Amino acid sequence: MARFVERTKHDWWSTTWKLAIFVAIIVFALVVIYPWRGFLPTFLLILAGLWVFVGLVSRRSGYRCDKCGRAFQVPTTVNFFTASAVGKNPDGTYYSYKTLTCPHCHKTSKARVIKRVDVQAAKGSGRLLK
Ligand SMILES: [Zn+2]
Repeated sequence: MARFVERTKHDWWSTTWKLAIFVAIIVFALVVIYPWRGFLPTFLLILAGLWVFVGLVSRRSGYRCDKCGRAFQVPTTVNFFTASAVGKNPDGTYYSYKTLTCPHCHKTSKARVIKRVDVQAAKGSGRLLK
């Protein structure tokens, strides 16, 4: 269990610095672009920053189907438009999941976020997902 907590901390940290880059882009957009170019370029830059952030995070992570246990990945577009939620394990630890449709068994379940390492070991790209 200690190992699980350690790994989660590391994952949290790697998400944090990506989030820091994203926040830096927003600050840059609001302080520099907004007074200079107006609303639309500012909005587009923030949107692009969010896209890059989601892309970076989703490249390193995948999901495990709650119904069949198989791992899959989703395209950045899917990650972008679906919200993450946090669930609680029976042993009191927390995990994050998204409600996704599995490309293997086509059932919708709470798919747990897992590391890319596990995804590469599994088959299927999740590209069939809508
Ligand atoms: Zn499945």
